[in-house]
Amino acid sequence: MATGQQPSGERVYVALGSNVGDRARHLAYARARLATLPRTRLVKASSVEETAALGPIPQGAYLNQMVLLETALEPGALLAHLHAIEAERGRERGIRWGPRTLDLDIVRFGDRAAHDPGLTIPHPELPNRPFWQRELAELDGTPIPRPTPDG
Ligand code: ADP
Ligand code: MG
Repeated sequence: MATGQQPSGERVYVALGSNVGDRARHLAYARARLATLPRTRLVKASSVEETAALGPIPQGAYLNQMVLLETALEPGALLAHLHAIEAERGRERGIRWGPRTLDLDIVRFGDRAAHDPGLTIPHPELPNRPFWQRELAELDGTPIPRPTPDG
């Protein structure tokens, strides 16, 4: 089998968010790292949008972006990579819904559904976040080109 082929697999939408430090730089780091994940291709990134923080903790505004990945990783393996990338940006887990250098959430994973508290897909906050819906719509029409054996 030839190596270096494009991964085939699921279309996965990952939301990037940051509201601490150099927010644009955290997003750029995340995009670069996601592009290096095994068996994964970064297909496209949405535009970046600034939103006011939601929830009970007063905190700075977020920069948000969504990326479309094509991956042959399983959802749990992808989530473990996302947590590792968050940790590389100094993400501290403590205050739920608190400020964060980098938050990476799986919004949709193909047509799959998961109901585990450790991994719920589609992400349960999708209906409540118009900016995620806008970003999804922006990426949704992106075809994934597939090399064909006979050209
Ligand atoms: P937030 O809910 O604000 O994104 P965290 O990033 O701290 O909070 O995530 C808390 C937990 O949510 C993670 O440890 C993860 O296991 C779990 N989780 C459940 N579903 C998802 C998902 N679709 N994407 C990312 N994390 C998820
Ligand atoms: Mg998260």
